[in-house]
Amino acid sequence: MNCSFCNVALPVPLRTTFTYSVPEPMRGIVQPGSRVLVPFRKKSLVGVVVEFADAAPAGAKVREVARALDLLPALPPKLIALANWIAGYYLAPIGEVFRAMLPPLTELKTQRQVVLTPPGGEASESLSGGELSHGLTAAEVAFLARLKNKKGAVLVGPQSKLGLDVPSLQKLQRLGLIEIRESLQVKKQKTLRVIAWKAASSAGKAAPSLGEKEEKIRALLETERGPLPLPQLMRLAQAARSLIDRMLRDGLLESWEEPLDPAEDPFDAGYTPPTHELNSEQEAVLTGIRARFELGAFGVQLLHGVTGSGKTEVYLRAVQDTLARGKTAIILVPEIALTLWIGRQCRSWFGARFEGVAVLHSALSDTERAREWWRVRNGGARVVVGTRSAIFAPLENVGLIIVDEEQESSYKQEETPRYHGRDVAIVRAKMENAVALLGSATPSMETYHHAREGKYELLTLASRVADRSLASVEIVDLREEFQQTHQTSPISSKLHAGIKECLDNKTQALVLINRRGYSWSVLCRSCGASVQCVNCSISMTHHKQRNRLECHYCGSIQPIPTLCPKCQSKYVYFFGEGSEHLEERLRKEFPGARIARLDRDTARTKRQYQETLGAFAAGALDILVGTQMLAKGHDFQRVTLVGVISADSSLSLPDFRAAERTFQLLTQVAGRAGRGELPGRVLIQTFYPAHYAIQDAVKQDYPSFFERELHFRRMLAYPPFTSLANVIVRDASLEKAILWARQLSQYFSPHDGEKVRILGPAAAALARLRREHRFQFLLKSPKRSVLTKLLSGALSYCDTKEIPQTAVLVDMDPLSLL
Ligand code: ADP
Ligand code: ZN
Ligand code: ZN
Repeated sequence: MNCSFCNVALPVPLRTTFTYSVPEPMRGIVQPGSRVLVPFRKKSLVGVVVEFADAAPAGAKVREVARALDLLPALPPKLIALANWIAGYYLAPIGEVFRAMLPPLTELKTQRQVVLTPPGGEASESLSGGELSHGLTAAEVAFLARLKNKKGAVLVGPQSKLGLDVPSLQKLQRLGLIEIRESLQVKKQKTLRVIAWKAASSAGKAAPSLGEKEEKIRALLETERGPLPLPQLMRLAQAARSLIDRMLRDGLLESWEEPLDPAEDPFDAGYTPPTHELNSEQEAVLTGIRARFELGAFGVQLLHGVTGSGKTEVYLRAVQDTLARGKTAIILVPEIALTLWIGRQCRSWFGARFEGVAVLHSALSDTERAREWWRVRNGGARVVVGTRSAIFAPLENVGLIIVDEEQESSYKQEETPRYHGRDVAIVRAKMENAVALLGSATPSMETYHHAREGKYELLTLASRVADRSLASVEIVDLREEFQQTHQTSPISSKLHAGIKECLDNKTQALVLINRRGYSWSVLCRSCGASVQCVNCSISMTHHKQRNRLECHYCGSIQPIPTLCPKCQSKYVYFFGEGSEHLEERLRKEFPGARIARLDRDTARTKRQYQETLGAFAAGALDILVGTQMLAKGHDFQRVTLVGVISADSSLSLPDFRAAERTFQLLTQVAGRAGRGELPGRVLIQTFYPAHYAIQDAVKQDYPSFFERELHFRRMLAYPPFTSLANVIVRDASLEKAILWARQLSQYFSPHDGEKVRILGPAAAALARLRREHRFQFLLKSPKRSVLTKLLSGALSYCDTKEIPQTAVLVDMDPLSLL
């Protein structure tokens, strides 16, 4: 095989790869799957070698690979094949797919350099007399002269060191006198500075008298904790860096560098996993899974098990079997918080015996994530637990892929590449000749439909373990509540009484609300205007603690208005409770209770998740308030009450999945109560008690819901009977967005017919997002291949019309049409 050229996928929004030549010394090192540093336009980028090429493309000037980053290719062959499949199916640029697959680049850093061009060199000489031409200022001339002295190149650091402001730099660049280059440099391996108390200092001489801070540091290092990493020491002792430096100089402390090493997870300390004999239902399911393994071929199984039926126990045994067969396993969970529980169980089951378990999710620091990733790639772990992107874990010889709570929308990535983690899991299982095991108490319509049609094998756990009954679910009709009390507290009197009972009985309560922040709408009572984001057509959310308004879509912030921005009236008011408000309200109503809140504002890091969830599980909290991240999967034994503040908000959305989502959420929520020996109770507050999604959730009757919903999907030609693609055309300029939407419409319209229905263009539900105007097409077809073909044609057509590729978003199998 000729390996002097290779095709490289780069992280740019272009649906193509680029050919580079491989310099002699790198041949044999650079392989398909290797990461390489290559020049691209004026930058250097890290790309992935997709394949070798026989020759350079005719005519084009081929540049050389600058550096090979891997000795062992980062991506094994099956992941390259998977990336190609994703690029084709979701019509995503291949380079962006690899970007989603690869670990964070912790071994490189970007460096900017200002370089004098040949004309710049000449200019600096001719100008050195101090005379000003080209319309240059004195500072600009001086800068050119300085560059010349520095052999024509300086690094871009902080402004002050460059001695020239950005507009001037841009001007020199425009005039062609300088060039600004970006390059990537290999970083030194990261190490950690560890500080220890120097024993000699306390032994030999008389102990020096220590100040209060120094004494604290001594106590920590000598008796309480032992040697500590510098940042941790500074935090624990609340000491400044300068103090520690001084103590080092005085010989009181010593320090050394240690490579960053996987530290033992403190979350595991003192944990012993529950060991249960499987009950007969669980046994039967496991037998079914084993029978599938015996076939040694790809297959999909759906484990439909009610909440609390002991699915995790079955997963762990299935993984154990897989490992015993010499294969590896991936477990996907829908929430970061769940990786904590399942990760811990896996570590204690498999950690020692089978060389380890890796955990991958986005709340890890880049360094930690990269380290876990490479541990997997180097064969240091054979079980991977993680969220969506863990489906790209670089394991080889995969035998089993579990997707827990397969219906969860968090498996869908809502940015390019817009893949669905569950569907990719099935494709990966097929490529690996492995078994895909989808688990759920409330399977998605698509999955259950496939199971009933016989495409997937259906396994069922119909009852909770140990004869526990499902929680009893009651509805609180908010219309009645209001008529009786004329109050607008988010906590109905029934819910209040329920929580009170928990507190009296020393059990725990979970209270769920679907939005974070304090209030999610700010409205003028005088003119009716709501305060919208300047970039998006969406209401700003009031955050009380942070004392500002925030947009949950683009992150922009605004001060809290005292006057209506539109009519200047002072009758601005806030409504719609969010989690922050609910927490405040609960503290007021239950002053003695121990309350915590878990949502994306309070839990940003792994540590924060661990602290709150750990405290709740250990019984150090009475009430936990949170968003839907609490609804899923957790197994809290002492929860006897779950309250849902408003079940309806998702029902009123203009979305064909609204009913499905509501049913799933409520059933999951109900699954959090009564999991231990104490019976559970669920209170659902709603304005639409008669809706079938709510009625069936109260009865926890999945088959009934499935039949009703399936009927509706069939009538309106929605999935699982039709494939959908959502196409968004977007631009900051309204005129351009309209023009492109029109052009695309011209391309589409001759195809509208029997095989494909094309709806639109219409203003998208979110007509403005991050300053861009958005128009939408919805494509429906009974055959997905028809959609794929039509859309790849449309994208080529966009290229010929010079519509930028970033202006057209294609969402295949969209979960939401918003
Ligand atoms: P699911 O994921 O189906 O909601 P879990 O797997 O979290 O349920 O199990 C619910 C609880 O039942 C857990 O506390 C688990 O330890 C326990 N459990 C699982 N299997 C058994 C069993 N065979 N006997 C008794 N308890 C069990
Ligand atoms: Zn107003
Ligand atoms: Zn916004």
